[in-house]
Amino acid sequence: MKEISDFRVQLDVEEIPKKWYNLAADLPRPVPPPLNPGTKEPVTKEELGLIFPPSIIAQEMSTERYIDIPDEIRENYILINRPSPLQRATRLEKMLKTPAKIFFKREDLSPVGSHKANSALAQAYYNRHDGITNLTTETGAGQWGAALALACNIFEMECTVFMVRVSYDQKPFRRTVMETYGATVHSSPSAVTEYGRLLQKTMPDTSGSLGMAISEAVEIAAKNPDTMYALGSVANHVMLHQTVIGQETMMQLKKIDVEPDYMIGCVGGGSNFAGFTFPMMGEKIKGKNNCEFIAAEPKAAPSITEGKYEYDHGDTAGMTPLFKMYTLGHNFVPSSIHAGGLRYHGMAPLVSAAVDQGYARAVSYDQLETFDAGLLFARAQGVIPAPESTHAIKAAIDLALEAKKKNEEKVIVFNLSGHGLLDLGGYERYLAGAMQPSGKNGA
Ligand SMILES: *Cc1c(COP(=O)(O)O)cnc(C)c1O
Repeated sequence: MKEISDFRVQLDVEEIPKKWYNLAADLPRPVPPPLNPGTKEPVTKEELGLIFPPSIIAQEMSTERYIDIPDEIRENYILINRPSPLQRATRLEKMLKTPAKIFFKREDLSPVGSHKANSALAQAYYNRHDGITNLTTETGAGQWGAALALACNIFEMECTVFMVRVSYDQKPFRRTVMETYGATVHSSPSAVTEYGRLLQKTMPDTSGSLGMAISEAVEIAAKNPDTMYALGSVANHVMLHQTVIGQETMMQLKKIDVEPDYMIGCVGGGSNFAGFTFPMMGEKIKGKNNCEFIAAEPKAAPSITEGKYEYDHGDTAGMTPLFKMYTLGHNFVPSSIHAGGLRYHGMAPLVSAAVDQGYARAVSYDQLETFDAGLLFARAQGVIPAPESTHAIKAAIDLALEAKKKNEEKVIVFNLSGHGLLDLGGYERYLAGAMQPSGKNGA
């Protein structure tokens, strides 16, 4: 570690991974299948066919270790700045006076500002190839909606987005991003679905939630044969698509001959964490490394640290199958924290299984302490991180300070899942000293 090239590791476009990696192939115990809420039997392909196209269903149910990435998707990965650089946080290390080496993977460099287009492009591609013309989805803070809007635009499809009300009101520029790419955006609960109209009547003051918005998007997909539903996180196929992040990171660390001690990602539904860590976790299961995998979640939606590992619905209305996952209950409405992308009651079944089987652990933070970490990072490295990503940064800083106390040269690698340039409202409140702590029941 002395060359300047060790501080920012770039890959060539030919090094964009050619396959996605499926952790389900390597977990020692199988991941419990989703269940039909009525019969409690495993969900069938036919049932999933109401909202997902055949090629996505095949990926969702696959236990194959590797799945080929079509060339057309790899070419479009260039458009979203893949491969993304791995960078060393040298100034942050100096500020913390830590002997630890801190690296971050730059998913913030995507034109939509986060990792989410890695899966959006894949989902739009497969739906298009299966003859679908319209996609519906939910979005929390707006990053997933923006990613899907871009992907639908590329593959010439219509895109309808249900945006959680509190984010719709707090983050109007996200809506403009989605509309710029050609999507139609509704504040959820909306008046365009039956369930939305019911919520408007029964909970007129609700801040909305991802669970509610999912119910609305699923309702539209289930009612229209030319329309399918695209999910931004949680599902197995989304975890799969995101593994380009972790595969690139492993190549980059290998190029500079570095073995990570910790890999950290923030978790909402779990996709950036999964994508970043699963390729390395697969090697760990085979005894090839001793890396620790840490999921950083908000105290306002602490699904792993305070939830139960049990079957629950993915949405509020109870339209989706039951998933075995860490959950706070599908009626849980998290307080309105700025990390809107982390406001989800459950955790991806694959991430939940990895935790349950002892391959990952979780930590949780209040939004005031994550914004402290985000500000330090911005001043050290120049990048203003997404409020979601500040959870991973907080965990990295804590480990770096622990390494300092013990005088250990640990290698800490975290995923910078996105930038915060469309979340400046949160930074504005933080800087004015007006940000409230975000306990589980705070609002
Ligand atoms: C959506 C989002 C998250 C949370 O979603 P995961 O599926 O858990 O990755 C985290 N960071 C950013 C920047 C996001 O946009």
